[in-house]
Amino acid sequence: MPPRHRQGQPWKDIRLRAPGANRSRQRARHTRTPPSAPPPGRLSFEPMASLDEPLRGVVGGKAAARAEKAFGLRTSGDLLRHYPRRYVRRGDLTDLASLRDGEDVTVFAQVAKVTSRRMKARRGRLLEVTVTDGSARLALTFFNKVEYWERQLSPGRHGMFAGRVSTFAGKRQLAHPEFKLLSADDADKAAEYAAELIPVYPATRDFSSWDIEKCVRVVLDTLGEVDDPLPEAVRERHGLDGLGTALLGIHRPADLAEADRARTRLKWDEALMLQAVLAQRRRAAAALPATARPNRAGGLLDAFDARLPFSLTGGQRDAGGIIAADLARTHPMHRLLQGEVGSGKTVIAVRAMLQVIDAGGQAALLAPTEVLAQQHYRSITDLLGPFGQAGRLDGADQATRVALLTGSQGAAARREALLDAASGAAGIVVGTHALLTEHVQFADLGMVVIDEQHRFGVEQRDALREKARGTRPHVLVMTATPIPRTVAMTVYGDLDTSTLTELPAGRSPIATHVVPAAERPRFLERAWERIREEVAAGRQAYVVCPRIGGDDAGGPGSGADGPAHADADDLESFLGEDEEDAGPRRPPLAVLDLAPALAEGPLAGLRLRVLHGRLPAEEKDAAMRAFAGGLADVLVATTVVEVGVDVPNATAMVVMDADRFGVSQLHQLRGRVGRGSEPGLCLLVTETAEGTKARDRLDAVAATLDGFRLARLDLEQRREGDVLGAAQAGRKRSLRLLTLLSDEALIGQAREEATALVEADPELASQPALAAAIGSLLDEEQAEFLEKT
Ligand code: ADP
Ligand code: MG
Repeated sequence: MPPRHRQGQPWKDIRLRAPGANRSRQRARHTRTPPSAPPPGRLSFEPMASLDEPLRGVVGGKAAARAEKAFGLRTSGDLLRHYPRRYVRRGDLTDLASLRDGEDVTVFAQVAKVTSRRMKARRGRLLEVTVTDGSARLALTFFNKVEYWERQLSPGRHGMFAGRVSTFAGKRQLAHPEFKLLSADDADKAAEYAAELIPVYPATRDFSSWDIEKCVRVVLDTLGEVDDPLPEAVRERHGLDGLGTALLGIHRPADLAEADRARTRLKWDEALMLQAVLAQRRRAAAALPATARPNRAGGLLDAFDARLPFSLTGGQRDAGGIIAADLARTHPMHRLLQGEVGSGKTVIAVRAMLQVIDAGGQAALLAPTEVLAQQHYRSITDLLGPFGQAGRLDGADQATRVALLTGSQGAAARREALLDAASGAAGIVVGTHALLTEHVQFADLGMVVIDEQHRFGVEQRDALREKARGTRPHVLVMTATPIPRTVAMTVYGDLDTSTLTELPAGRSPIATHVVPAAERPRFLERAWERIREEVAAGRQAYVVCPRIGGDDAGGPGSGADGPAHADADDLESFLGEDEEDAGPRRPPLAVLDLAPALAEGPLAGLRLRVLHGRLPAEEKDAAMRAFAGGLADVLVATTVVEVGVDVPNATAMVVMDADRFGVSQLHQLRGRVGRGSEPGLCLLVTETAEGTKARDRLDAVAATLDGFRLARLDLEQRREGDVLGAAQAGRKRSLRLLTLLSDEALIGQAREEATALVEADPELASQPALAAAIGSLLDEEQAEFLEKT
């Protein structure tokens, strides 16, 4: 059998298809697993490799070293899980115009022109080969062995060229690329080959796509029977191929349908493993001991309910009922409560905390920022009235105390709060998330509420165990950032979730408009007029900037407002910043620049206050107090106002450089207005041009108030790799094929299967291959990934 491709590089003895390979491949396509016996034509004493086989023994030391250096691949299994990025047919050409400087690429192109000349500065000759995709061109330059390359690269030939893209003298080029020519003369050889797809792998300069292809072939050809982590029954129920067939199918598909089939099956591996880990974790968490805190009639909770100035919404009652039942169990609650901004999560949390206090325990409420901790402290104290004033003159009989712990409070106040927490005098302790890691003692911590945080990692769980001295407190995590269902099922897969879908009655709608400041400067003037009108009507407004100013640089997410942004906007930063537009832009507008400009210009005469993360805590609190108390008309702020800040009289918001914020973040921001009975107004100011992606995003925010839709849009607009990749950069990836948005159905099915498997057999003793695969997944530091996200 002739080799499929003629070799372009004689020093590389690439035989793309070993004589035995074709046969073993064809057999494999008709069986569920590859043959365990050596294929005919192969010497029978040749050892069959397993997936654990070190690569060195299979592909040789040199290739193995390159595989390890390039991608950390050590075993046959590692290599076979290094999947092709895409496939090309022979004759397909890469769009050369799309190449970017600095990218490592493998392109398919045709040689158009070959020229050589003597170099001026150095001895020797330079060969320049121009390749084309039919329209765009790319230069390949070679400095040595010019005659030799020239003989190979004759015009008209097709090849794969790999290297790093750079620009020289205005021309896109690959300097000294690796290449492999595709032979033209055996093209007629066979329809069999014509249809065949060439896999294109993620590659590096030292480990090219065709090196990988070659190694993969060697591994596949020597692979013995493989243990399939997918249980037979699962495969049968969902019509999935065996692992061996799927590995062949993804690396050497006869057609795209076969590759697709293989991908689906391999996605199942990822989904089932992840879901099995999460199911095990849910089970283990549910088995931990916790003190039951059942509801007690006639206690603080009843007194609180009697004082409540409004009636709970149906959703609040439902979620509250579920949480009350969770708290009555002897295993710790671990629940995520999500609900739109203003849906009334805090009341649910306070009621749960009071149930715990009635049962003899204490509760801690943790907020992402000091501003929010202070606000919670104030609103809880208000809501409790005399019932929060134990030991004070105006305290009620069965009253408790609310303690506030912040990093910046005075020593005396802090000492008193610490004492109240340790003695149990304080039923509720409010602080920032940092409280978990500080040396705060509780008499009997029964419950922890975590506001506006999505991640709740293993370190925090460990810290909790210490705080609660042995048993685990019940945990309620609250978030207003809607989490798409697939993300909830994977990243937060070990939390139970409750969702508030309705807003309390009497809320006014928020109108959102995009203000194109560049095209229509007049619109921006009008925006400031609107603010003046709101203030004249006795209401207040926010002006939000992406940046603080002073010495800082960069936009949102680049530490502009460090703690507030990083903590409060977890999902956003977890998903990674999107960097769609390249090219220089002016720095984002800053609070410290804009506030004085407004005070002297369009908002002259109004009472302005400034709020950002770099202010000392007392000043932040003072600014918030002044604004909440109506002593300021306009709050010029960074995203510190993003979460939880509740000033019902604030009815308008102007977001400057709105394109610098994420979609979900803008949605959060505008949730600050329209919390009272007056309609809210949110103006998104941008200089981006109509029709750009950034502008489209703003239009989308203006067009809907549905946070879940916007969260999905956010996810769609980021490249899928970033979704999970950000959290595990530089590591082997446990999820290579699975994508959260498009694989929702598959993930849901895998979750059901995994839950059933783990329920029937918690240790997965009857599924050794699955258990082993999970074991190695967790070994590879993936545990860290799963825990931390
Ligand atoms: P979020 O879910 O954003 O944390 P909050 O708990 O801060 O929302 O509630 C927003 C405002 O709505 C608060 O002022 C709160 O007192 C009020 N609120 C909560 N529940 C109701 C209700 N059922 N009816 C009327 N107002 C309510
Ligand atoms: Mg809140």
